[in-house]
Amino acid sequence: MCGIIGMSNVPEAAHQVYLGLYALQHRGQESAGITSVDDDGRSHSHRAMGLVSDIFSPARLDDLPGRVAIGHTRYSTSGSSELNNAQPCLVDYHTGPLALAHNGNLTNAHQLKADLVKKGSIFRTSSDSEVLVHLIARSEARAPEDQILDALERVEGAYSLVLTIGHVLYAIVDPRGFRPLVLGKLNGGYVVASETCALDIIGASLERELQPGEWLRIENGSVQDLPPLPSKQHQRCVFELIYFSRPDSVVFGESVDAVRRALGRRLAKEHPAPGADCVFSVPDSSNAMALGYAVQSGIKLEHGLIRNHYVGRTFISPTQAARTEKARIKFNPVRGVVDGERVVVVDDSLVRGTTSRSLIKMIRDAGAREIHLRIASPPITGPCYSGIDTPTRGELIAATHTVEEIQRHLAVDSLGYLSADGMHEAVAGARSGFCDACFSGAYPTTVPHNQHDELPLDIPIPAVVK
Ligand code: SF4
Repeated sequence: MCGIIGMSNVPEAAHQVYLGLYALQHRGQESAGITSVDDDGRSHSHRAMGLVSDIFSPARLDDLPGRVAIGHTRYSTSGSSELNNAQPCLVDYHTGPLALAHNGNLTNAHQLKADLVKKGSIFRTSSDSEVLVHLIARSEARAPEDQILDALERVEGAYSLVLTIGHVLYAIVDPRGFRPLVLGKLNGGYVVASETCALDIIGASLERELQPGEWLRIENGSVQDLPPLPSKQHQRCVFELIYFSRPDSVVFGESVDAVRRALGRRLAKEHPAPGADCVFSVPDSSNAMALGYAVQSGIKLEHGLIRNHYVGRTFISPTQAARTEKARIKFNPVRGVVDGERVVVVDDSLVRGTTSRSLIKMIRDAGAREIHLRIASPPITGPCYSGIDTPTRGELIAATHTVEEIQRHLAVDSLGYLSADGMHEAVAGARSGFCDACFSGAYPTTVPHNQHDELPLDIPIPAVVK
């Protein structure tokens, strides 16, 4: 998952992009970058590993002049976590610098790359996004837009893009619409960003969300709708609403906060916890779900876990070692809340189970009498190939274990997952238009070779709870 943002006709565009990236930091914390185009058409770029706030200083931003700029904050789903793969990608193109920032994952990138290498292309990175740049550059069409179209017709998978060629900014969403992209207005200029929270931070007004297959050409304060990409069945990522997006954003036309409360209410109906003394969330992405659970069940809402905000989101760390270490230092239970109590813990999802197991032990050690874990999404049984870091089936606890086994592994008194129907009803009141492949196995695109048959996770399953 990544965060992307682009601006056109905005004074000191890089400064505004920086603020937007700040708001999109939750979408990727490995690296960030900004590329600007000055009034003479020259590009300026800075990319580095780390957080947006550490990478850019006022002086650094002053070195990125111009009224056109794009930015990217990355966590790796394709290609390793290294500076070389940080975006925006920037190359010399025959009509000016071409810069590209990509959110998503191209499922046929390996085959396309092999083809391109055979034909003489030299790749500088291991990221799938560079494939797009090569396809654009090698297109035999004459006009830049036809070349982009040529490239897009060859790629499969998830892509929301901001792309500049000279002073022209393009914003593109793949025909299935996996990842969100919104258009906003800022004085006489335009902003395109992954989430509305990036518009809010700079005072831009929301114009609309881009629809699947839509692409825009933005230049000199005007927006032109280009002919949409060939239509496909919409597959918006349901996990954006469950976990990834910020609750203050509107994503896929839905308030993320409202969806999460609805998930919590539905969870309480499906998996009540009679006799529990209090309910609390695993902060922060589950806060609204716990609120919904408390409202529906009538169980008192508490703050039972405190999150250390100076540790990154465990889910988007690139290695298991980093995840395990961070889980231990990220949360601390409030002893006065949990000691001697029967508690309901609400989490948005259960991926590997590593964080949850540590958390449950901490809550138990803090004196909880009973722990009832409630998960506001169905069991995750398959990896995502469309831009979220769940790369192997073997890492997913629910792929190879029953709910009862997981309950024993986590040492909780009860465990309840939201049903798939419950999830879809809470998200949009209907089943259509969303990808739920990591829960259902119904993949909308070709599953990349060698990524679907991994060995199961080797976890200890105790015979009895506690
Ligand atoms: S597989 Fe899951 S995480 Fe990936 S796009 Fe589909 S719903 Fe989203």
